[in-house]
Amino acid sequence: MSYQSINPATGECEWQQPYLDEQSLEERLQALPAANRQWSALSVSQRGAYLMALAQQLRLQQSSLAGIMTAEMGKKTSEAEAEIEKSAQVCEYYAKQALDMLAPESLPASPSDAYLHFEPIGTVLAIMPWNFPIWQVMRCAAPTLMAGNTLALKHAENVPRCADMLQTLFVEAGFPEAVFSNLFIDNETCAQVIADDRIAAVTLTGSERAGRSVAASAGKALKKSVLELGGSDAFVVLDGADVEQAATTAVKSRFMNAGQVCIAAKRFILHPKVADAFIAAFVQHAKSLQLAPMARRDLRDQLQQQVDDSVAAGATRLLGGYAGSGYADYPATVLDQVPTGCPAYEQELFGPVAAMIRAQDDQDAVRIANATRFGLGASVWGPEQEARAMAHHIVAGCVVVNGMVRSDQRLPFGGTKQSGYGRELAQYGMREFTNMKTLIID
Ligand code: NAP
Repeated sequence: MSYQSINPATGECEWQQPYLDEQSLEERLQALPAANRQWSALSVSQRGAYLMALAQQLRLQQSSLAGIMTAEMGKKTSEAEAEIEKSAQVCEYYAKQALDMLAPESLPASPSDAYLHFEPIGTVLAIMPWNFPIWQVMRCAAPTLMAGNTLALKHAENVPRCADMLQTLFVEAGFPEAVFSNLFIDNETCAQVIADDRIAAVTLTGSERAGRSVAASAGKALKKSVLELGGSDAFVVLDGADVEQAATTAVKSRFMNAGQVCIAAKRFILHPKVADAFIAAFVQHAKSLQLAPMARRDLRDQLQQQVDDSVAAGATRLLGGYAGSGYADYPATVLDQVPTGCPAYEQELFGPVAAMIRAQDDQDAVRIANATRFGLGASVWGPEQEARAMAHHIVAGCVVVNGMVRSDQRLPFGGTKQSGYGRELAQYGMREFTNMKTLIID
């Protein structure tokens, strides 16, 4: 039994990583308490120096790491390199900002003095997906490590070389042993690890299905969890929007990373006055795209099924819609007149398929935007006052007016409804895995 690295461009298995046997897993877990004592005893600036060294390692190894990312999950080299640079920047940002973010807060509690202290809690188990195999890990790791916790990583089964390379970079950056450790384990063992006393908390970025399972394990063990799950983000275009600008951004948002992005715009909800012009511009831009393969063939096949079922339910295929000839290729696809009840309306399409939904008016657009079990991100395009007003009515972790939903290292990131709970990034994310201790001086 092993993790398998299958190149989605060829279907060849290029690397295998056996699961940790019981003894090796126990050795990794045994190393954690000492690592926690050592790491949490360092000052914030000492930890920051390690994060700065890690940023340097990421940049030094950018080209070889990007090659591994492309070979394991298919993304374009330019996208892989940009992801590594973003990951280096998140290390630097938290290395510099953590002191302020963790500073004790004084509270009004006359006649006593009261303060909040943010203290580390131990080892956080990070269960991560393959779609941004470096960024997702570092988005969690940088704030969590700076808060004085250590991290155990259980990466997705199709990106073991990325996980292995990350471990090497931590070693090269000089981190003390076991401050960051890979656990190559299956999902069943993951539940046992969550229950283990040497793990303090768990964070998952992944699907709803994984979210339910991990949250149940964490609940059973009474441990803190943060869940960053799927999304089916609305992209609402109002009358008066800059249609060309909206369509250009919409295509970028939907097809980046071969459409495998949690915060990609997925449902395009259009006011009748702009619908035809927006769709025409969108199809025009989408036509010229050369996409990377999807990460796995089974995911491509699942997407094809969702498209076929949506078309059978009445959606119109305007572009693409059939698997390419490669092992895991799928072309840029646009569906129009997407009816309620079909997969393109109700489910997350985790690949390069855009669902056009025509609203009757602004009120109807809000209703459709919220007619989803997800609540990760959304964007509204139109005259600023109207778009801002609508943003308040959309239920999501983030709404962007006249711009693309993105993950910004300076801003909290996370969802509501079935998109998960808790936040990553900013002081809110950093404090998720701290003991917020109230200190009262009488
Ligand atoms: P996935 O199948 O849920 O896998 C994500 C991670 O969870 C992998 O490491 C996976 O391990 C693990 N996992 C799955 N089932 C588990 C279980 N029962 N117990 C413990 N771990 C388990 O998701 P994916 O296909 O990799 O990623 C796509 C999904 O992630 C999409 O829904 C996407 O929207 C979401 N996502 C969300 C965000 C966000 O920030 N909100 C960011 C990126 C992606 P194995 O590979 O071993 O199964």
